[in-house]
Amino acid sequence: MCGATEQGHARNNGAATNLSSDTLVNLDHGDPMIFETYWRNMGDKCTVMIPGYQSLSYFADTENLCWFLEPKLEESIKNLHKVVGNAVVDDHYIVVGTGSSQLIQAALYALAPPDQPKPASIVCAAPYYSCYKEMAEFLRSGLYKWEGDAHTFDKDGPYIEMVTSPNNPDGVCREAVVKKDGGKLVHDLAYYWPQYTPITAPADYDIMLFTVSKCTGHAGSRIGWALVKDKEVAQKMVTFMTISTIGVSKESQQRAAKILEVISNGCKDPKSSNGITDNFFLYGQSILSKRWDKLRNTLKHSQVFSLAKYPIKYCHFTQDFSEAHPAFAWIKAKDSIDDCEKLFRGHKVLTRSGRRFGSDPKYVRVSMVSKEEDFQLFITRLSSIN
Ligand code: PMP
Repeated sequence: MCGATEQGHARNNGAATNLSSDTLVNLDHGDPMIFETYWRNMGDKCTVMIPGYQSLSYFADTENLCWFLEPKLEESIKNLHKVVGNAVVDDHYIVVGTGSSQLIQAALYALAPPDQPKPASIVCAAPYYSCYKEMAEFLRSGLYKWEGDAHTFDKDGPYIEMVTSPNNPDGVCREAVVKKDGGKLVHDLAYYWPQYTPITAPADYDIMLFTVSKCTGHAGSRIGWALVKDKEVAQKMVTFMTISTIGVSKESQQRAAKILEVISNGCKDPKSSNGITDNFFLYGQSILSKRWDKLRNTLKHSQVFSLAKYPIKYCHFTQDFSEAHPAFAWIKAKDSIDDCEKLFRGHKVLTRSGRRFGSDPKYVRVSMVSKEEDFQLFITRLSSIN
């Protein structure tokens, strides 16, 4: 399953670890443990009490097109996008999902024409998020077919292009690549938050996907949302959710609603306790920028590895110029090394090979959002290969 392969099996989740020289460092997955210190520091601010009589019904709001969407979550999502300025929400329907993973599948179902002799093509520019291929191929659907790299796509007929911006694995901000008639776009904006990249303008696309996994780090709550312009498409996505899981856990939605509300309030009125600002995004940006500085310093004179630079842009949220600090590092090995993942594995660091992203095995993707001790151990091992 995609979730299992993407996230791997995180070692000793949440507990303090004693890392020795032969501990395997798993940076293959994007488990967002980097934010744990922030949330510990928030104490009880996000605690949600759910009495036994609550959440019995399947329904949350029968008046809403997305009838299983908790009104509190809808409100918190809209507020947060307005505070951050990263997406236009007002003329969009909100569809909640069990992670944005479920919404990707719902979007493919909703966009693929049901009455065509051949399946719609699904493409994404390489290097692409490795789960798209896995999701598109898993159930051998007759509705759509994975066709790989959008740069080399030349088939006729309906197609769906996944546009991931900033991109997983390489952190680059992207636009659609295929310029043909009959195409539909899904913008996966999981990382379009100020801790990862400057917010240059509110995104305003037909289908935009977001997830608390990457926004706040609460991947375990499994809450994602889609902002969908077209009513019929939103309706079809809701049908997909109804058939696959009859909605989304209300407990998770209530918790996510609270967390998003606390984040929005922290941005409007930031305080500081134990040296940590309540503004989650500024905190996230500062910790990620320290990690990126450390990584770049370690690789500054490297004879083995290289890293791309990101352009400096003005961020409307921080009101400052900065470069991106992506959730993953996309590291390239020099020409004489054919398999970069194997090289890292030999030094007890698990990464994900460029091959999995439709790219060259000279590249690996390395998580920058792990627990601090894993990141430190990675830097130590990287210095010894350099
Ligand atoms: N899209 C992208 C680009 C991702 O990186 C991820 C998580 N790795 C997802 C979607 C899925 O996230 P989730 O199902 O946890 O919401």
